[in-house]
Amino acid sequence: MNKKYTLYSSAFLFVLVISYIFFFVIPVYEDRKRNTVISFSPISDSKIIELHNNLFIADLHADTLLWDRKLNTHHHHGHVDIPRLLQGNVGLQVFSVVTKTPRGLNLYSNDDNSDNITLLAIAQRWPVKTWKSTLHRAVYQAEKLHVAATKSSQRLKIIRTRQDLQEVITLKNGNQAVVGAILSLEGAHALEGKLENVALLFNEGYRIIGFSHFFDNELGGSAHGVKKNGITQFGLNVLRKMNHLNILADISHASPKLIDDILRHSTRPVIATHTGVQGVCNNATRNLSDEHIRKIAASGGVVGIGFWPAAICSQDVSGLIKSIRYVADLIGEDYVALGSDFDGNVQTPFDAANISVVTRALVQDGFTERQIQKIMGENIANVLLDNLPVDSETELQSNP
Ligand SMILES: [Zn+2]
Repeated sequence: MNKKYTLYSSAFLFVLVISYIFFFVIPVYEDRKRNTVISFSPISDSKIIELHNNLFIADLHADTLLWDRKLNTHHHHGHVDIPRLLQGNVGLQVFSVVTKTPRGLNLYSNDDNSDNITLLAIAQRWPVKTWKSTLHRAVYQAEKLHVAATKSSQRLKIIRTRQDLQEVITLKNGNQAVVGAILSLEGAHALEGKLENVALLFNEGYRIIGFSHFFDNELGGSAHGVKKNGITQFGLNVLRKMNHLNILADISHASPKLIDDILRHSTRPVIATHTGVQGVCNNATRNLSDEHIRKIAASGGVVGIGFWPAAICSQDVSGLIKSIRYVADLIGEDYVALGSDFDGNVQTPFDAANISVVTRALVQDGFTERQIQKIMGENIANVLLDNLPVDSETELQSNP
């Protein structure tokens, strides 16, 4: 009897330890391993610090919601949380939502037959309905952001309308510790082939949708897909719906043909939330051509330059500045912005708290104060102030 009891309690203890490791240790370990900082020298020049602290700073892409991280807590791993955004004087952070990535993920050719996120969702204790549904993963991650905003003591504000953004800008101008957040979808396979899910995600707060991620989907091709086709009829219908609802189209990760088609058919500005440029870093499967950069500018959109090595062919901030300079020379400084890809399974030269490294590097490269204001955030703010829904439209569309 005693022997049996000991056996049961040992087995119970074993399951408990394994469960603890699987549900609490591995998710944090994965986050720490995959989102790292390379190196940077901290800012000591008081003039740079003053300039930086007077900027409205915006970043177009961070995948933070994918990880098991409490947004309102300061962490010493990964790249983004609210305390670090405030420390870096970031006024607007776009939180992009990843819902499916293929196993053996690479830049050249991936199909959609496998999925890394299922195991991550289970290990991170996400609701059961997210295990199989990319739509539910998108809804769940949006809700994580909403909960964080509620618990943030007014430091994190979710931006759904032009008025919301204007309020955050006004608060920042009054030196309040606040950061605005916009939800963005990375890969519209999460619509699960249903047009009505565009409105559903709009109601969850999504204001930017990237058509494809690492594989071709129902809307069109990925730069890293198998066929890399252009837009489908479903993709066109989604684009029309997005244009109608004031959701911006993001062409990051799209195949060149799909980029062409979105630029041809969109009636609103088209943006790249996180990219590099072929003129600096000839990563042809992912980075933008001069022609696409020109067309994005012509649409009234912005090009967000990423911070990770494969986008800028550099381990430090120099590649980022070179890419910003390249776009500014090609189409003018009104169309270039920051698109870090913080927490996107990448190494970056610094985290959100130390984004002033970019301000210093722009000064050192000879950009004027006015140009720095635009590049560090005003360009993004302007596109959004012109294209987010106005309050009354949001109310109307919340009952589609
Ligand atoms: Zn991405």
